[in-house]
Amino acid sequence: MKIAIIGAGHAGMAAAWDLRKAGHTVTIYESADFVGGLASGFKEPGWDWSVEKFYHHWFASDKDMLGLIEELGLSDKVIFPRPYTVMYYKGKFYPLDSILKAIMFPGLGWGIDKIRFGLVGLFLRLTANWKELEKFTVDEWMRKWTGNKVYELMWEPLVMGKFGEKYYKRVNMAWMWARLHARTTRLGTFEGGFQAFADQFAEKLRTAGVEIKLSNPVTHIQRNDETASLELTTANGLETVDKVLVTLSPGAFANVVPSIPKAYLDGLLNLKSMGAVVLTLSLKHQLSREGYYWYNIPKSAGFPFLAVVEHTNYVSPDHFAGEHILYIGDYLEPEHEYFQLTKEDLLEKFLPSLKKFNPDFEPGWVNKSWLYRTAYGQPVPFVNHSKNIPAIETPVEGLYFASMSQVYPWDRGTNFAVEIGRRAARIMTKDI
Ligand SMILES: Cc1cc2nc3c(=O)[nH]c(=O)nc-3n(C[C@H](O)[C@H](O)[C@H](O)COP(=O)(O)OP(=O)(O)OC[C@H]3O[C@@H](n4cnc5c(N)ncnc54)[C@H](O)[C@@H]3O)c2cc1C
Repeated sequence: MKIAIIGAGHAGMAAAWDLRKAGHTVTIYESADFVGGLASGFKEPGWDWSVEKFYHHWFASDKDMLGLIEELGLSDKVIFPRPYTVMYYKGKFYPLDSILKAIMFPGLGWGIDKIRFGLVGLFLRLTANWKELEKFTVDEWMRKWTGNKVYELMWEPLVMGKFGEKYYKRVNMAWMWARLHARTTRLGTFEGGFQAFADQFAEKLRTAGVEIKLSNPVTHIQRNDETASLELTTANGLETVDKVLVTLSPGAFANVVPSIPKAYLDGLLNLKSMGAVVLTLSLKHQLSREGYYWYNIPKSAGFPFLAVVEHTNYVSPDHFAGEHILYIGDYLEPEHEYFQLTKEDLLEKFLPSLKKFNPDFEPGWVNKSWLYRTAYGQPVPFVNHSKNIPAIETPVEGLYFASMSQVYPWDRGTNFAVEIGRRAARIMTKDI
């Protein structure tokens, strides 16, 4: 078959790998002039590693990603440093990345709250029954089982931070389960950064015979029943293929295929997601004196952002010409002002707060900064969300869809992009 894949992110590239191996003629159309999508990175002259536009790492449990990397013969390039994650509590930061450290966390006291926190964490880690959990919101389930104090201190800031005032009380408990069930404290990356992985993956695809057309957005797809094929409007004109896999956001997919039947279209348009805003700084000095990597900050603490991530407390600043790389990020609705403000406006808002991380910090520490934003950064799962997931095989014959919004109950991640890309490939070749 002649197959087109729209998008050279991890889902599109993983699908291409399997479809090509199955003997099909595969072309990937990518609107950007680089591969890797949301997990892509950028590099300054003098750096030998790239920095991800949106902070990224793998978990030791990311079977699909690590399995694919092994298949590509690149496993020797995966490293798993063990960075420190901390949480803000009453003006100070406390390590919170292991069960022991969570038990030592002073906010929970030494009574029943700590026991409830521990038991609920253990239950979520052990149970596989997410279908039962998706019937409840995090808010109601956690309040019931951990009590209000533990919930408001430990879990509410996480859901509120990720989903904002508008959605956080509606997010279902399977989302929280997936995070606790599938994540590890060991965090992995690729030698050279995520962009190095994406580039090497793309090279393997090209060697295998996949054509990757960069700077080539697909603007329209339609079925031609007479020729039993799909027609794509690309930067090079009209292309005709047997099957198409689209890996864009649900909204972008709906735009590209306006003729999609209404029931499926409504399903796409009903899916909600949060955007992400990440300001990256190159600093002259290390910000965290303690060497902390990831700072979780509750919205209630009044900081103008949700997370501070000192990348060079995870991988060495030597890869970045000795510069210290700091991400400042937040998840926000796409209508939020942070999507309109300039980088300079955001610097003005964010920099004063960095003194709370290191009193010596001065704006003069900043060598350079970069701003990346995406309106599609985090799908929002409501109660009984499994009913809302669009099928990979769409009602348009030969047209398939695989996106972050369909990896549920898992939270979005490159591991699940690989999984859904490969699953889509199996469905397209009816090997499922
Ligand atoms: C802030 C943030 C932090 C994250 N952290 C992590 C993490 O730590 N670990 C992790 O594993 N994952 C993380 N993720 C998630 C991860 O980035 C995604 O799950 C994954 O990259 C999705 O891959 P994809 O192929 O489904 O989509 P995408 O990467 O979005 O790929 C879609 C591609 O389609 C292209 N495209 C768009 N429109 C068109 C068009 N019309 N024609 C042709 N091409 C088009 C885009 O340019 C893009 O390359 C994070 C995401 C965000 C936003």
